[in-house]
Amino acid sequence: ARAWTLASRPNGMPTAANFALIDLDQPSLAEGEVRIANRWLTVDPYMRGRMNDVKSYTPPFAIGEPMQGGAVGEVIESRSDQFKPGNMVQHFAGWRDEAVLPAAQVQPLPKMEADPQAYLGQLGMPGMTAYFGLLHVAAAKEGDTVFVSAAAGAVGSTVVQIAKAKGCHVIGSAGGAEKCAWVQSLGADAAIDYKDGTPIVKSLGQAARNGIDVYFDNVGGDHLDAALAHANDRARFAICGMIDVYNSGAATELRYIARVIGARIRIQGFIVSDFADRAAEFYRDMGGWMKDGKLTREETVVEGLEKTPDAFLGLFSGDNKGKMLVKI
Ligand code: NDP
Repeated sequence: ARAWTLASRPNGMPTAANFALIDLDQPSLAEGEVRIANRWLTVDPYMRGRMNDVKSYTPPFAIGEPMQGGAVGEVIESRSDQFKPGNMVQHFAGWRDEAVLPAAQVQPLPKMEADPQAYLGQLGMPGMTAYFGLLHVAAAKEGDTVFVSAAAGAVGSTVVQIAKAKGCHVIGSAGGAEKCAWVQSLGADAAIDYKDGTPIVKSLGQAARNGIDVYFDNVGGDHLDAALAHANDRARFAICGMIDVYNSGAATELRYIARVIGARIRIQGFIVSDFADRAAEFYRDMGGWMKDGKLTREETVVEGLEKTPDAFLGLFSGDNKGKMLVKI
């Protein structure tokens, strides 16, 4: 078996030199353990934070140790009565082609009619982030104008579709005309190409003539500032991510931050695990929208374990439409 380890900690944008692929001696199974051939690995922007040696809501990756992340795979050997060979499962020993785990750290896939890799994307962590961030943290409701950044990504594209299913007016931003056309094909009423040379504060003003009631932030920086500039009274901001600052460490100056006061804006950060005990609501509603044809699921698939760092780095240059995945 092979696994990616963190070879060194990046300074700014990570490079291939920060990762090393090692041979991993997998032990024979102890009682209660299972051996899993990973079929799908997820790479996610939050993993950038785990490459730093700082205290956060998830511990840093250790130098020289196999990295972790979500994975879906097939049980190929079992010494647990909970799983048998052939079962498809999910777990957190990603960044490798084979995992040996106690059964307690392995979950069966939810029983929905979807491809197994969907549980790493729209029907998994990124989907839950979109659902709870939009509906609970930002409390979006019918008639609201919702602005979402990184709208062509895994979380953002799901936010667009849930917001439309709830009867919101939706504006998404993404890099490039092609991604923007796709965001509109998902139902967004307007899409802003933040790379077209126009300052985003201006583009958002044109797209949101009546202001915005909700901002779902995946980017931070100029996007957040533009949202502050155009927020209506009592707007709600769900701060989900700030990918614009993950590699620079420095936040952009917010020229419109003082609008928080006069417009009584509520800004709330959140971590998807805050809602871990409410997965049933998520599956119920997503299942319903799937049946009604209201959800489109898009994936960008990179093939081969060797390409995992490339897939991960591609998140920071916008290589993905929908969920970025590695297929083994
Ligand atoms: P995405 O699928 O959205 O991939 C990242 C996308 O971000 C890229 O495709 C790119 O799209 C865009 N991007 C990259 N760099 C920049 C930049 N400097 N400025 C603007 N856009 C940029 O990833 P996810 O859906 O997995 O995650 C989206 C956000 O949600 C991230 O910030 C992530 O950290 C956060 N998150 C937070 C969670 C939580 O619990 N709070 C849980 C999961 C995710 P483009 O081509 O449009 O630039």
